[in-house]
Amino acid sequence: MTHIRRMRCALRLALLAPAMLPVAGRDAFAQLKVVTSTTDLYDIARAVGGDKVRASHIGEGYEDPHFVQPKPSFILRLREADVWAYVGLDLEIGWMPLLLDGARNRKIAAGATGHVNVSTVIPVMDANQAVDRSQGDVHPLGNPHYWLDPSNARKIAELFRDRFSELDPGNAATYRSNATAWEGRLTAAEQGWAADLASLKGKPIVAWHTSWRYFAAYTGLRIVGFMEPKPGVPPSPAHLAGLVATMKQAGAKVIIMEPFYDRRTADKVARETGARVLVLPPSVGGAKGLDDYVTVMRNAVTTVAAAIR
Ligand SMILES: [Zn+2]
Repeated sequence: MTHIRRMRCALRLALLAPAMLPVAGRDAFAQLKVVTSTTDLYDIARAVGGDKVRASHIGEGYEDPHFVQPKPSFILRLREADVWAYVGLDLEIGWMPLLLDGARNRKIAAGATGHVNVSTVIPVMDANQAVDRSQGDVHPLGNPHYWLDPSNARKIAELFRDRFSELDPGNAATYRSNATAWEGRLTAAEQGWAADLASLKGKPIVAWHTSWRYFAAYTGLRIVGFMEPKPGVPPSPAHLAGLVATMKQAGAKVIIMEPFYDRRTADKVARETGARVLVLPPSVGGAKGLDDYVTVMRNAVTTVAAAIR
């Protein structure tokens, strides 16, 4: 091999190295670029990543997560990403394949360490049910709203800690301490709302969407009925008549719903049953002031507790 050929060869290897060896070739000062589908995953990713990651999200907290319309510009964001983290269970099925195909980024392609289907570490509710997608059910693989239970949020933080550490081992100690600190903040916040939480146990309520099943598992609230006959299917008059009867029988005094559903229909049921409608943003950025996960959960717990007491 001539001297020049050796140099060319070395140069080519050097050019290829960052792409071929993302871990060993990583600049210690470069931040991991993390893109998430939802604001809740984004908030937990930035808590665990701290200044070692640059995080962004595709959906907004005030949008129905089932009907996110991503901008084409997100293809460019995904093209440069080191990590793509999403809820899974087909929540992003309407747009994710298109964006990932467009991004052509093997670091975040299915099977890569940077491809993080968060649902894989979660005990998913309503899975293995015979669901007919043609009937409009938007939870064909199980209930994807698992972040509404803090025990699942902890699992999300630990998954991010592990994946970020795998991709960026030089900062593993930081990811570990950030995750521990975040879980500590969550635990401290939970102590602050413990009395409210205790007051919710066993109380009958109605929810619009089955998203609140995880919240009910956390709080001990007893959901006696849903405004939707199936997840994603708007209520019919017959369904609502049955729900009114159930609410009266069970003594349910509260209807909880996300801001993006039809408030007037909930108000109508509330008038017929003497119940109150509570609009609870389920995500970070879902309303003014709900700027992080802990605040979203505190708002949900304390709002329902104040109404039920
Ligand atoms: Zn849903």
